[in-house]
Amino acid sequence: MIDTYRHKGLRKQLAAVVAEKGIQDNAVLLAIESIPRHLFIPDNALHKFAYEDKPFPIGSNQTISQPYTVAFQTELLQIKKREKVLEIGTGSGYQTAVLLEVGAKVFSIERQKALFDRTKLLLPKLGYNTKLFYGDGYKGLPSFAPFDKIIVTAGAPYIPEDLLVQLKIGGIMIIPVGEGADQMMKKIVKTGENNYETEDLGVFRFVPLLKEKGRD
Ligand code: SAH
Repeated sequence: MIDTYRHKGLRKQLAAVVAEKGIQDNAVLLAIESIPRHLFIPDNALHKFAYEDKPFPIGSNQTISQPYTVAFQTELLQIKKREKVLEIGTGSGYQTAVLLEVGAKVFSIERQKALFDRTKLLLPKLGYNTKLFYGDGYKGLPSFAPFDKIIVTAGAPYIPEDLLVQLKIGGIMIIPVGEGADQMMKKIVKTGENNYETEDLGVFRFVPLLKEKGRD
């Protein structure tokens, strides 16, 4: 668990790369500059690449998302301090850390036990204390609802109804939707109990949101 000046320099460069690609929110850029991304990648051999703007394997057939994608989704959420954010797909915990750095209260769900167990240990070690749940993201967390914001970090074949219900009126959900390898990033604003405004914001490539909780 070593962070060095070299790593700090590399992530300053990464923040500049992400800004160059269009991210403007300073809080998001600052988060990228401060979070030691290499420590979220379990394979030490990949640490030297950790500040490239790329996804990397994290085990269980999953990936840590590309920093630009993390920044893009986070910027779209327009998070204000202490807002309640539900994250589906904790994975490495990197996106969770970004949400915490920009001031959110985060509730994050992961359905792969091995990833859940690892990230539950890692985040507090890095000073990030938050609520992590082992469960099925399609169902959300009804007992903690409603949420100001919801972020889905895996490709969803459709928009889960339970998540729409758990979003506050005026709340925003950012979700990549599509059945194949590519998904459309959608921003959904809940404008009334049963009213939503949806905007399409470009094509991205995520690992799929898995259907049923399996044994792993
Ligand atoms: N935010 C993560 C992205 C990890 S990839 C990061 O930056 O590291 C997507 C994650 O979603 C994987 O960890 C995967 O196991 C998880 N996932 C897939 N289907 C899920 C579901 N139905 N509920 C909760 N998590 C799910």
